[in-house]
Amino acid sequence: MARRIDTYLADLVSPEKFAFYETVRDFGDAEVAPHLLHWEREHQLVPDECIKKMGELGLFGLPIAEEFGGQGGDHTDLVLMGLALGYHSQAVAITPGAAISLGAKPLQLCGSAAQKKAHLPALARGERMFVFGLSEPGRGSDAANPQVTAVRRGSHWVLNGEKCWSTNARWASHVIVHALTSPDGPNGKRSTCFIVPMQQKGVFYQEMSGKKVWEQSSTGSIMLENVEVGDDAILGTENDGFKVMVTTLNGGRLFIASLALASLAFALDKTRVYAEERIQFDEKPIGRFQRVQDVVVDMDIALERGLTWLVHCCKLYEENRLSREQAAKVKVDCSRSASDLLLLAMEVCGGVACFDEFGLIRHHNDLFVTRVGEGSNFALKDLIVRPLRAK
Ligand SMILES: Cc1cc2nc3c(=O)[nH]c(=O)nc-3n(C[C@H](O)[C@H](O)[C@H](O)COP(=O)(O)OP(=O)(O)OC[C@H]3O[C@@H](n4cnc5c(N)ncnc54)[C@H](O)[C@@H]3O)c2cc1C
Repeated sequence: MARRIDTYLADLVSPEKFAFYETVRDFGDAEVAPHLLHWEREHQLVPDECIKKMGELGLFGLPIAEEFGGQGGDHTDLVLMGLALGYHSQAVAITPGAAISLGAKPLQLCGSAAQKKAHLPALARGERMFVFGLSEPGRGSDAANPQVTAVRRGSHWVLNGEKCWSTNARWASHVIVHALTSPDGPNGKRSTCFIVPMQQKGVFYQEMSGKKVWEQSSTGSIMLENVEVGDDAILGTENDGFKVMVTTLNGGRLFIASLALASLAFALDKTRVYAEERIQFDEKPIGRFQRVQDVVVDMDIALERGLTWLVHCCKLYEENRLSREQAAKVKVDCSRSASDLLLLAMEVCGGVACFDEFGLIRHHNDLFVTRVGEGSNFALKDLIVRPLRAK
């Protein structure tokens, strides 16, 4: 059966980009879908072998310039990867997704020439992975004022505190630590980002256990105890760390929107097929009931609308014209509509939707992350409302 999402994407992106999407889609069908249930039931993270294969496919180097060994692609390619892999598993998709959009991207956007030369080639090959250390146990939405501190001592800095929720921590070579460096500075100018090797003395990682979303994705706590780094570890400029983080999140939010739409695309196909196969009352498929049709049609509309909007936002991003409000809006809308509709899709499918092998419950759980991750939808509305306030 042709996927509904393919019909839309074939019209929205160039033939070359669609061919790339098909390659990743086929990889997901062959290397992810057949194993997913086993990984879930065994509570396994994405196996190293699968990560290696994604590296061989060039996924970790997608938007990295060819001069650094990357594929020289753009944000649309990244989002197409999210749509292709996320159709089966957001957790698998976020592994290269976060490695790029939260790991390599800040380096591409804000790194020095020496930092790019030192790290981008290994990041592009998937041999090195950076994780994004913004969130902390006491700092989620209120991320501008980290509790992790970096204090200058002579020629080096000493970092202390804890980061949490760091996606890909299990495989990380480095963590980008957002730390308080100027407590008395103006708001938004109090912090600095540092590139810290995970092997550095005083860095400890622990997987966060009990997480029932993105189950195959690694999510770690990273403790920093008197970790010493030099000025060359600073990413961007001193006391401009929040700017580095915010700039990164603009692109990251587009990727989160792609995961939401991937789940919606899966749920749409699953539901429309099930609605034709499931017979109730007078030997009729339930897809003949208007209320069931309503759900299927609403999913289809939300998918086409979301994809069109997202591809447009990727174009703006590449042209440096995507505002923070626009990135926030598309993330809020795609995550909210996909998760609201997914619950209705499960209702259409009835009891069978409760089972892991049916797939919907996985997407239902994972969609929750798209609502809170990379800025909770409620908090993002603070941004969206700004230009709407009457002067
Ligand atoms: C699976 C997963 C992976 C993640 N990966 C990473 C990662 O790689 N790196 C990283 O740094 N972080 C990561 N995060 C953290 C994520 O970005 C935070 O969860 C998010 O920023 C929200 O922070 P919080 O959970 O502490 O919620 P809080 O800030 O405690 O907010 C709780 C709720 O309060 C409400 N709220 C808060 N502020 C406002 C406001 N201003 N206006 C209105 N309502 C508000 C919202 O409803 C919000 O959902 C990850 C999270 C998850 C769940």
